Amino acid sequence: MLTPRKRIVTIDGPSGGGKSTVSRALAAKLHFTYLDTGAMYRAVAYQCRRVGLAAKESPELAELLASLKMELLPPLVNGDDVRVVVDGADIGHELRTPEMGMLASQFSALPMVRYALTRMQQEIGAGGRIVAEGRDTGTVVFPEAAWKFFLDASAEVRAQRRATQLRSKGENVDKEQLLAQIIKRDQDDRQRSLAPLAAAPDAILLDSTTIPADEVVARMYAHILATSCCRDQ
Ligand code: C5P
Repeated sequence: MLTPRKRIVTIDGPSGGGKSTVSRALAAKLHFTYLDTGAMYRAVAYQCRRVGLAAKESPELAELLASLKMELLPPLVNGDDVRVVVDGADIGHELRTPEMGMLASQFSALPMVRYALTRMQQEIGAGGRIVAEGRDTGTVVFPEAAWKFFLDASAEVRAQRRATQLRSKGENVDKEQLLAQIIKRDQDDRQRSLAPLAAAPDAILLDSTTIPADEVVARMYAHILATSCCRDQ
């Protein structure tokens, strides 16, 4: 029997492939909610660092995860990153550094972290009408999603984009270091045993190395419109 499909779009891929820009724009076009799962892993890493917890499984980590109150809210200014409110404080602006990306990657390999966040993501997506971006949203979190994409790009282009993004926020960037971090993080994300970064077998692969973001969005949107009659749930 075929698994029923839900009105969910998943966009997975390595860091800096343009997932956030594309997911945000596609969600706006479809009037769906945008779910940034990476921000959730970053938030857990941030909270753990704040209270001095190392990236390993422990009763303290289990307790932190069980009592975590996390909300993802739309940005106040269109086009900005989502706001991440944890225990009442908006920590979104603390999360988007390369260092927090590396730390999030370490915490994301821990089964108890993945279990807690996957469940939260599934609750958020239970009603459908979301565009979820991450590493395992098409394979593990929403295997029943109607539309799955995997967005890749060369490591050099991804590092360049991240550098431009960070500089636009006024941050100093060492591009070589950024490239090394991106390569290491992707390797770790691809090689971990639990929910590794991977394309779902039924995902459409797109390479944004040479295709601009608006063209990627247009292709995804056209595909969704062309197939939505057969996938409505
Ligand atoms: O997408 P972003 O760069 O914000 O993700 C930060 C880290 O969180 C990733 O490198 C990855 O290790 C982890 N992550 C994950 N599964 C997801 C989303 C993010 O393991 N669905």
